[in-house]
Amino acid sequence: MSKGTLLVLSGSSGVGKSTVIARVMAQRSNLYFSVSFTTRPPREGEKDGVNYYFVTREEFQQRIDRGEFLEYAEYVGNLYGTSMAVIREKLEEGMDVLLDIEVQGAAKVRQRMPEAVSLFIVPPSFEELSRRLHDRGTDSEEKIQQRLETARREAKEIVNYDYIVVNDAVEHAVEEILAVLTAESCRKEKRLHVLEGV
Ligand code: 5GP
Repeated sequence: MSKGTLLVLSGSSGVGKSTVIARVMAQRSNLYFSVSFTTRPPREGEKDGVNYYFVTREEFQQRIDRGEFLEYAEYVGNLYGTSMAVIREKLEEGMDVLLDIEVQGAAKVRQRMPEAVSLFIVPPSFEELSRRLHDRGTDSEEKIQQRLETARREAKEIVNYDYIVVNDAVEHAVEEILAVLTAESCRKEKRLHVLEGV
């Protein structure tokens, strides 16, 4: 059996990443969503063990000390980290694994697991991102400007990713991610077993 594909997905705040991910997950039974650890408090409706494992800074630090994380990073004052053990196990079982992580974490994953495939979701334009953040109506103007500034900074990292997914409409973005997954599963390295016995 060949190993699964490790898919790393990043995208700036407001780009609609969570909606896209939920749709992708619903369409692929062979895809496992990696639940991260975080020190951020849960938002309304978020469940421990589903969206994140919500832990204290002390517990997070203990996990760092035990070397449990494939990567971790600080983002807007909170720590976020990906546990190595579950990912290894799923990939060995032949499942594809999806990580939803920010740019510093993605860079670490590319270093430690060069076989990972990375995708960055972008809005159709910067103006559109600004419009979406304003339309959401959840943040103050100051907060929106901060998010846009972060998005500009993060955009500099995009060249290091393998694929750029444009979220002009959710179904297009979903289609593009599924296409990447399908193409990656057809790589010859993953298909050599068909030659056995030839
Ligand atoms: P939020 O607090 O909005 O759920 O997530 C904030 C940012 O943290 C998002 O960009 C998300 O992709 C990123 N993130 C979530 N889990 C991880 C993780 O395990 N590692 C890293 N490096 N970033 C993460």
